[in-house]
Amino acid sequence: MSNKLVIKLLVYSVVLVVAMVLTVQVTVQQQAQRAHQQARVQGAHLSDYIDRQFSRYQRIVDSLSRSKAVHQALDIKRAASQDTDRYLHDMQLASGASDVYLLNTSGTVVATSNWHLPYSYKGNNFAFRGYFRDAMRHHSAIDFALGQRSRKRGFYFSQAVIVAGEVAGVIVVKVNASQFEADKAALDSVQDTLFALVDENHVVLMSNAEPWRLTSLSPMTTPQRQQLKQSQQFLERTIAPAPWQWQGQAQVYIAKRKRTFVIDDTALARAPYQLLTLVPRNYLNETLVARLGVTLMCLLVLIALVEYLLVKVAGYRQLLYSERSLAEQVKQRSQELEQAQDALVRTAKLATIGQLSASVNHEINQPLSAMSAYIAASKRLIARGQYDKALSNLQLIEQLVNRVHAIAAQLKSFSQKREHKMQATSLAQTIDNALLVAGPQLKEYGVEVCYHPPNVTVWVDPYQFEQVLVNLFANACQAMEKQAVKRLRIEADSDDENVYLSIIDTGSGIEHHALSSIFEPFYTTKSEHGLGLGLSISKQIIESFQGTLSAHNHPDGGAEFLISLHQQEPQI
Ligand code: ADP
Repeated sequence: MSNKLVIKLLVYSVVLVVAMVLTVQVTVQQQAQRAHQQARVQGAHLSDYIDRQFSRYQRIVDSLSRSKAVHQALDIKRAASQDTDRYLHDMQLASGASDVYLLNTSGTVVATSNWHLPYSYKGNNFAFRGYFRDAMRHHSAIDFALGQRSRKRGFYFSQAVIVAGEVAGVIVVKVNASQFEADKAALDSVQDTLFALVDENHVVLMSNAEPWRLTSLSPMTTPQRQQLKQSQQFLERTIAPAPWQWQGQAQVYIAKRKRTFVIDDTALARAPYQLLTLVPRNYLNETLVARLGVTLMCLLVLIALVEYLLVKVAGYRQLLYSERSLAEQVKQRSQELEQAQDALVRTAKLATIGQLSASVNHEINQPLSAMSAYIAASKRLIARGQYDKALSNLQLIEQLVNRVHAIAAQLKSFSQKREHKMQATSLAQTIDNALLVAGPQLKEYGVEVCYHPPNVTVWVDPYQFEQVLVNLFANACQAMEKQAVKRLRIEADSDDENVYLSIIDTGSGIEHHALSSIFEPFYTTKSEHGLGLGLSISKQIIESFQGTLSAHNHPDGGAEFLISLHQQEPQI
């Protein structure tokens, strides 16, 4: 596996892990908020239910405290009868309470709804009970205790019975706690939710979780224990610690399964109790799994998209690269072609030089021989003391040396590889230079040159243009070799922008079928020395000046070569 692939896999893995972790965090946070909200709503619902029930029983006990039957039962002057017991029994059945009974001011039961049952309270003394003492003191109380005989958990609603402005007794309505716990209508709305109604000592009085009932949600202090023992609220029963402690969140073990709950606590309006509502927090639930799935899908699609784009970009870069390399190849080929063309030009020049060399030899040898003769004569004149004549000889020698220098310089520049150097050049000057170079050959062939120097400029590279002219002059010489009249006419014409130069010879002319081929490279009709490059190179050179070179036969006989050139640099 390549390093690039490993890095890519690592990056994608990190992105996946980070996205998953974020999804889990956000979902868990949202679910915690939802659980808190649920706990609040259900806590309010349950506390409202309990408050309404408590209020109802308070109203019942209040109306009982003012009933005639109750007052009669406390009247010591009246003989005891069972009318009150029956009345209380009727009220117990109608209200749904478990027991309804009446205590005198000593705490002894004087009438009770269970008078006819084996566990009848009649004659029992409950002066130690909180609900009795509180009602005597404050006229009204709600208490929770374990029934002495039934040992059932119950809420006691007590109310002082006032007769002639004095407390004459206490009427008590006892309701089993299980009645509230079993109220289907109230509990249906909580389903998964657990609740616990706790007193001020955090002892669970009521709960839908059975094991929590009569346990304590916070460690009990010794004075609290002593006080409980004294009031016999829970009789001799020891209050064990609950399986969880009450904090913001609770870790609760239910059937050995650890679960975390969100807790809402609401104080009851009617009694000094608090209602704890516990909503479970399910960390791994359907929502989380679904969200993780969606996140994973989105990321995979994203990764696929990124990969697709990367491939596209790589393809585009490849295309750019190949375009660039193609352009480079074209440039390289062009350079090679240019070099090849340069080489051809030089080859052609050399060929021309080859053709010229014989005449050049003659042209240089002639002044050299002349110079030797003049030097020998000068020596003799000096020996005789004829210095004036010797000096004029030396001047002639100097002229001859200058001429040889000029020929050598032209040949050198002709054969050299030079940069293209365009400039407005005097046409007459260039023709003169070309005639000087071609002069020995023209002389050798015995060609007569007819020429009026024109007063115009042409936009050319002077050395290359000179080479073209030398080539045309050389061709003309060869074409006129066997002619009786050997005349070379050089004529120039011009308009505002262009110059038209004609080079007309009195040769045999160009064969009709060759007119279209003479500018092709290597086309030659010459058996010796002919390379067939001169005209094709000349045409290229003229066209590189943005001019034209064409050829046709002159009506008077012979060939005519036409060159058109710009006078100045052309404006594009
Ligand atoms: P080369 O001179 O080596 O043959 P060129 O390209 O200079 O190559 O000329 C090609 C041919 O064009 C010559 O072989 C000749 O047949 C023809 N040509 C050139 N100049 C003339 C001319 N002035 N008169 C007649 N034919 C000519």
